[in-house]
Amino acid sequence: MKDFEAYIFDLDDTLYCEHDYVRSGFWMVANELANQRSDMGIHNIYRMLIEEWQRNGRGRVFDDVCKHLGIDADIARLVHLYRSHRPDISLYDDAKEVLAHLRQTGKKIGIITDGDSTMQWAKIKALELEHSVDKIIVTGDLGREHWKPSETPYRKMVECLGLNFCDCVYIGDNPNKDFIAAKRLGMGTVRIVREVGDHMRTKLGTEYEADMTIRSLTELIDKRW
Ligand SMILES: [Mg+2]
Repeated sequence: MKDFEAYIFDLDDTLYCEHDYVRSGFWMVANELANQRSDMGIHNIYRMLIEEWQRNGRGRVFDDVCKHLGIDADIARLVHLYRSHRPDISLYDDAKEVLAHLRQTGKKIGIITDGDSTMQWAKIKALELEHSVDKIIVTGDLGREHWKPSETPYRKMVECLGLNFCDCVYIGDNPNKDFIAAKRLGMGTVRIVREVGDHMRTKLGTEYEADMTIRSLTELIDKRW
């Protein structure tokens, strides 16, 4: 692989498994709901949340499960609990290996991640990434119009690292938004396809697709372009 100066990563489903985060958050919410329906038990409520998620996606899980349980819950409060909880998540093994390797070889490391600010920073803290990378940009801190595929976070990142776009590569899992701006700006792009994740089977046109696809982040070290 071409020797880039900086390796900039997406977070969810690139460095750790986002489904683990969802499960961790649902456990928190199940705990809360079990206070109001102690007859149901936390494990049963947790299972209901998971099953609802698998059936209909994440969008209305709390509304639908509360309705089913006959609980008149404050959904905004549950969402806040979910987003602000301290998640039980860990980096993928290949992510640990690659981050350590890039550190050792003196490369710059960045993270650009979309999402609610509180939620994304809670993930970053749980994964202990704050002090092991050079720059983190959570687009939730910038405003909705600056979320990927906006060029803003990529421009900010490259400027902060003091490099040119062509010296940097962006590694992500979601062709809907991860690679469009990076490609337009002249950065390298790499798509990671994992066993688990919502975007692993997404197939889009060439303007959305990365320069190359890998199945383990360790290929960033081994592979020639
Ligand atoms: Mg992602």
